[in-house]
Formats: sequence, C-alpha cells, structure tokens
Amino acid sequence: MNFIKKMSPLLIPFMILMSALWLKNQLHYLHDSYLVLLSYLPYLLTVISLVLCIQFNLVRNLLSSMLLVLSYLVIQQFLQSSLADVQTHILYMLLAIFVPAILIFVSWLPERGVMNINGVGYSLAITLLLIAISYSYHSTQLLSDFPHLFPLRIWQWSILSPLNLLIFGLFISHQLARMIIFNQSFDAGLSVILVALAINFIYFDQSYISLVIFSAIQLIIIWSILKQSHDMAYRDELTGLPGRRALNEALKSPGRKYVMAMMDIDHFKKFNDKYGHDVGDDVLKAVASKMSKITGGGKVYRYGGEEFTVLFKGYEIETCIPHLEAVREDIANYKLSIREKKSRPKSSKVGKQKRATQKSKRGISVTISIGVAKKIPELNSPEEVLKSADKALYKAKKAGRNCLVSV
Ligand code: GH3
Ligand code: MG
Ligand code: MG
Repeated sequence: MNFIKKMSPLLIPFMILMSALWLKNQLHYLHDSYLVLLSYLPYLLTVISLVLCIQFNLVRNLLSSMLLVLSYLVIQQFLQSSLADVQTHILYMLLAIFVPAILIFVSWLPERGVMNINGVGYSLAITLLLIAISYSYHSTQLLSDFPHLFPLRIWQWSILSPLNLLIFGLFISHQLARMIIFNQSFDAGLSVILVALAINFIYFDQSYISLVIFSAIQLIIIWSILKQSHDMAYRDELTGLPGRRALNEALKSPGRKYVMAMMDIDHFKKFNDKYGHDVGDDVLKAVASKMSKITGGGKVYRYGGEEFTVLFKGYEIETCIPHLEAVREDIANYKLSIREKKSRPKSSKVGKQKRATQKSKRGISVTISIGVAKKIPELNSPEEVLKSADKALYKAKKAGRNCLVSV
C-alpha cells in the first residue's frame, strides 16, 4: 500500500508519455505542412515551461528544460543523416550518455532559485557543454574507438548499444530511488523523462519520434512545476505534513461518519525557552514524523504551531482511539537526540559549558495531549466537530497532560 502511494506521482507523467507515443502513430494522417509546423511544438512548450520556472523560481526544472530543448535542437540540426556515418554515430552516442548524466547531476543541485550565480552559471555551463558535444563529432580521430564500445543495433529491437542501455537502466533506477527517498514531484517527473529519453534513443530511426518525445518531456516538466507549486501551497514546509489549507480542503467533503482529533505538544513554550527555537523546530519535525505514521486510516495535518489535527473518514470513535493512544505512547517513550549546533563558541570556557548543557540535552522527551470528537447530528459542520475536539483537548490538559480525552 505504502509502495503504491510512493509510486503514485509517476502516474500522470507516465500517462503523458504514453499518450504522446500513441499520437505518434496517428501523425502520418496529417498533411506535411502541418508536420513542419508541429516540429516547433517542443520549442513552444519549452517557452511555457521556462516562463513558469522563472515565475516559480525553480532552477532544477529550468536547467532540465533548457538542456532537453537544446538536445532536441542538436538532434534536428545534426542527427538527421544515417547513423552508419561514423560522425553521426559518435554524436548520437555522446548525446545518449551526456544528456541523462547531466540530468542526474541537476537532480542533486540544491533548489536555490533561478536568478543567482548558480542558476545563470549552470545554464551557461550546460549550453557550452552541448555546443562542445555537437561539434566534437568533427574530431572523429579522438573518439574513433568509441563506436566499437557502443555498437548499434546489437539487438533487433534497439538501435542503442547494450552498454548505453545499461547506463540508462542505472540512471533510471537512481532516479526512482531518489523519488522514493525524497518524495518530491521533481524526481518523479525526471524518472519518466529518463524513460522517455531511452525510448527516443532506442527507436531513434522511427519517424516523428524526437518530436513526440521532446514535446512529452516539456509537458512533463510543466506538470512537475505545477505539482511542485501545489505541494508548496498545501504542505507545511517545516514538518512535511499537509498543512492547514489541505485540512480545509479535506473538510469540504468529510463524509457522513468521521472522527477528528486535536493533538498538542505539552509545555512546548517552556521547551522552546529552555533549548532555543532551533531545537524546538527539530522536536516539531520529530514529533510530526511519529504522528505521520499513525495507523487505522487517520490522516494527520499540521493545524498550526505545535498543534496537529487527525481526520479519520468513515470510522467509529472506538476504533480510532487505540491508534491515537499508540501515537501518544510512541511519542512519550521516544528519547529525542538533539543535533549539535554547527557554530562553535570561540572561547573554550563557553565551549565547555555548552558541551556540558548539550550532554544534558541528549535523550530528552516530550509528551502530547489529545482531544477526540466524532460527528454527531448536533454538530452541524466539520468546524464544530473540530471545536468539540479542541474542548476535549483542553480537558486533557486540565487532567494532567500526556493523555487522551474523548467526547
Ligand atoms: P500546553 O501544554 O498548555 O499546550 O503548553 P504550551 O507551552 O505547549 O502551549 P502554548 O500555546 O502556550 O505555547 C505554544 C508554543 O509553541 C509557543 C511557541 O513558542 C511554540 N511554537 C509554535 N510554533 C512553533 C514553531 O514552528 N517552531 C517552534 N520552535 N516553536 C513553535
Ligand atoms: Mg497549543
Ligand atoms: Mg502545547
């Protein structure tokens, strides 16, 4: 179940790719003049994706979009002759290695925005590299051994050499692993883009293949940008949990039967005062991570500050309580290890004192209190159920904290 959820961001990019491949087989119905016009489609889509990248300040999408449109340009300009020609073969092989390799490099860049030395510098570097690759096929002497390493059409179904296929396989696996670990829409998009590139090079001799593949790729980048901006709006940045906006969205259609819980960290203000705001943030992240693993069909949202809301759709309150209690106990039994600050005090005396206090910080624990309420006819809206859960939370605080009260 969890695996399917992790893989779900692949669905839309994959559908874009499949639709493009299906459309490729319909293109021969079009008149030639339309096809000439259509060959500009990847450029048009790139303009849209670049404008969106600048608007949302997403440098990794910008670099991918630029690299891929330049690759399309190189294919259109230099790779229209037969691959039996050794120069064309070398350029084809270099593109099949370098384009996915640069994409993998881009996937590891930090997201620091577009208009800075990183964004402009990498854009220039990628452009220069592609120009160098496009003209390197003149130096066939230097690269004359390479075609033996990357022979064409060893297998009937693929023009691409086995070694190239292996490299693509490794890159795609790397990207899928990144997607599962980091859970980012960008990585999902890039995984499918790598598959699309592999298909492009495997079936390189088919008509319109680059046109449809590179149009699909730019559409996937546009999807990825929109998905990332959606994630930014609906996800809480600190904890990675869905935020208040996502909760409001879910409360528009909670169904007839549902249960809501409010969870609040106990004495968190004191905690912040004692250890500092940064440590407070680390605690919030750790607590949120424990909460997100709640079982029994509950979904956790960061309501705000150190308060979290759980929504169980379609469940009875009696079935939800054990799962909430399990989270409460899990957090209470968890010893938080606090990361050491990077800054080292200049004076050794202060350093000693600091290390002494850090020792006492190790293995600290926090508790949470929970208030639970279910939908009953007297409570007309989800907001009223939430208020009722909040009242129960207040009772839990009064009752001594680290406990659950239901109404
Ligand atoms: P109680 O047990 O009654 O809930 O006590 P409390 O101290 O947890 O409650 P109170 O509402 O008085 O304080 C909540 C504190 O949570 C205030 C603020 O310092 C802290 N807080 C809220 N949001 C954040 C955040 O994003 N990061 C950090 N570090 N602290 C936060
Ligand atoms: Mg509070
Ligand atoms: Mg609190």
